[in-house]
Amino acid sequence: MTKRIVLGTFSHETNVLSNIKTDLSEFRKRHLFTGDEIPAHFRGTKTAAGGLIDGCEKYGFEFVETVHASATPSGMITKEAYEQILGDMLNGIKTVKNYDAVAIHLHGAAVAEGHDDVEGDVLGAIRKLIGKKPLVASFDLHANYTEKMVREADILVGYDTYPHIDEYERAVESVDLLAKMLDGKLKPTRALRQPPLLPALQSQFTGKYPMTRLLEEAHMMEQMPGVETVTVAAGFPWSDIKEAGMSFIVITNNDQKLADALAGELSDLAWSIRRDFLVKPMPIREALRRIKVAKEKPIVLADIGDNPGGGTPCDGTFVLKAVLDEGLTGGVFGVIWDPAAATKAAKAGPGKEIEVSLGGHTDKLHGKPLKVKALVKRVSDGLWLVKGPSGTGTETDMGLTAILRVAGNDLIVTTKRLQPLDLELYRSQGIEPTDAKFIVVKSSVHYRASHEPIAKEIIELDTPGLTSPRLAGFKFKKIRRPIFPLDFEMLGITELKKMDEE
Ligand SMILES: [Zn+2]
Repeated sequence: MTKRIVLGTFSHETNVLSNIKTDLSEFRKRHLFTGDEIPAHFRGTKTAAGGLIDGCEKYGFEFVETVHASATPSGMITKEAYEQILGDMLNGIKTVKNYDAVAIHLHGAAVAEGHDDVEGDVLGAIRKLIGKKPLVASFDLHANYTEKMVREADILVGYDTYPHIDEYERAVESVDLLAKMLDGKLKPTRALRQPPLLPALQSQFTGKYPMTRLLEEAHMMEQMPGVETVTVAAGFPWSDIKEAGMSFIVITNNDQKLADALAGELSDLAWSIRRDFLVKPMPIREALRRIKVAKEKPIVLADIGDNPGGGTPCDGTFVLKAVLDEGLTGGVFGVIWDPAAATKAAKAGPGKEIEVSLGGHTDKLHGKPLKVKALVKRVSDGLWLVKGPSGTGTETDMGLTAILRVAGNDLIVTTKRLQPLDLELYRSQGIEPTDAKFIVVKSSVHYRASHEPIAKEIIELDTPGLTSPRLAGFKFKKIRRPIFPLDFEMLGITELKKMDEE
């Protein structure tokens, strides 16, 4: 008999300090699909949703889609949006006859009104509905795992990469393990360990130490007999839940002792190298001086404090103001979110000069609006296809988009918030990124996958904002304490030693 698997996706990284409320319209702006709309959008793409489909087809499983909901990172998910998405998922499962298992993709750092542990609650609700049938899930590397999540799901597989270039592979892996369970060859035993460690996003880059050290260890463990999959999750501080921070999950085949021991080893290793997770960004003016004397181009400047991928507004103006003050030219800014400026530019049309009050509209943390004179170079619908390496094959919709030339620099001004993940962002707008003297990206780490190959140098700027690595400056309320590095400066050597021993 052909096996039948029910699929779904609910993905949001919630920054509870952001004042952009995540209601259903925020999901509609990105992806909110049901049933057959889902394969129509994701079949053949290198995404988690595409991986679930291909994984099923690899084993000859029939699949039935329920809901696919994902929104750009932003503030708290409203109760209404949470209940509707979960309801669609549960109702979708209820309508399927004779299914064998459920395989879903979740983010792992979602927070909704009344639900600190969205993924635990989603998995728990599905578990209640499906009884003992297998339930497998893949997760983002920024997941904040909870004991409930690990209890309710049979299999949890997290991305190994940041920038995330293996979401497809990890979703396929979750179906591989499901197939093994359905064959009766796998009885998963799981262990979760969490050192008191809250790494800033910039230190979570998996292309360099210290993350490489942890991942190498995890991959070696995966080669051991009886070990099925090992997840290293760096966590997302701004979800501000008790469990936010780094987690390790080891899944073995019917060997709880082995799972516990290995997860404990990874947790101890991370704690022992905790100081290597501290980040030292460069002051903006110092970076701009380097650009003035640079002989090669382009230099990529990462505005790490305003990364919409971590839920920030994407309209911060600190870097633009400094560039204009210093009189630098030849820069490209990807991107600045300002729907009103994009609309004004579209009304005026290419070749016209406009005056706009640009950016800084959302809150007081990311700089003030800047009054600038701008030449409208180009106006477009902001639609383009991702060439990779992450999200290859998917369509990006920036909304109405204008290229504004301001004092010799090109600004990509969009109607939707997005991170510069792909070089097509520039090329689709008639900008060749390799010709730029410098490129300013509003991103913490994701830009690296596409920008490293062209960058002569990458500089992380010490910009204020909701994704700044200066974590001690945020008023977190629920994260468990003490935790490194938040309490680092308050703790003496004795307390740290005690934490070492625990
Ligand atoms: Zn992520």
